[in-house]
Amino acid sequence: MATGKSTNRREFISTSLKGGLAMTIGLSATTPILQSFTNPADRIGSLFPTGFDQQPLPYKYDALENVIDAMTMEIHYTKHAAAYAKNLKEAAAAEKVDITKPLEDVLARISTFSTKMRNNGGGHYNHELFWQSMQPKKEGNAPAGSLLAALNKTFGSFDAFKKQFGDAGKNRFGSGWAWLYIDSKDKTLKIGSTPNQDNPLMDISEIKGFPLLGLDVWEHAYYLKYQNRRADYIDNWWNVVNWNFVQQRFEKMG
Ligand code: MN
Repeated sequence: MATGKSTNRREFISTSLKGGLAMTIGLSATTPILQSFTNPADRIGSLFPTGFDQQPLPYKYDALENVIDAMTMEIHYTKHAAAYAKNLKEAAAAEKVDITKPLEDVLARISTFSTKMRNNGGGHYNHELFWQSMQPKKEGNAPAGSLLAALNKTFGSFDAFKKQFGDAGKNRFGSGWAWLYIDSKDKTLKIGSTPNQDNPLMDISEIKGFPLLGLDVWEHAYYLKYQNRRADYIDNWWNVVNWNFVQQRFEKMG
C-alpha cells in the first residue's frame, strides 16, 4: 500500500533525524543520518541535506518587492551567491571533498579545511537556506502550531522573539548573519549571530546547532533599497519569511 509505505518512510526519516541529532549535531562524517540522505531526491522538501550546486530561486526576482527590490535579488542570487557556489566547488576539488556527500558534513569539520572552503561553504549553505526561507508577502504571515508554541515558550511571545532576533542582526558589527537554531547541547531554540559567512553548523562557530532560520545582514543584501538603514530592512523582512519552511525544519529536527 502506497499510504502505509509513505507513513513508514516518514517515521523512518523522523526517527533517523532525531537519532542523528541526539548523537551529534556536529554531523560528523560517520553520522548515519547524513549517509542515508546523500541522494538529493531524499531531501523531502526541507533543503536538508544541502548539496554543492546552487538551486533555482523558488520565486521571481521581483516577488519580494517592497521588502527586497528586484535588482538586489538578482545581483544577490546571480552574482554573490553564485560566486560562493562556484568558489566552493573549486575548493572542494582542490581539497578532495566528495561533493556527492552533504555539505553539512564539510561544515561540521570546517576547521580542517581552507579559509576559502569556510567562506564559500558557509556562503553557499547560508544563501541556499536564505532563499528557501522567504516567500512573497501575504496577510497574516506568522508561525503556527508547534513552532509557535516553542517560540512562545522559549522567548515569551512571537513579538519578543522577533525583537531578540532582530537585535541579533542589528547588533552584528560588519557583515554576518542572525540565526534561529536548535542548540546542539540542550536542544532548545536559541538566537544568535555569526560573522562573515560562518553558521552554527561549523565546528569553529561560537554558537552551535541546527539552523532553522537565517537572516543575511551583509550590506549587499539591502544596500540598494535601504542604504545604511539595516534596522528598517530587518523590520520589513518579517513580511516575507516563509514560516512553513521554518516549521518543516523544526518538526524534522526539533
Ligand atoms: Mn548575501
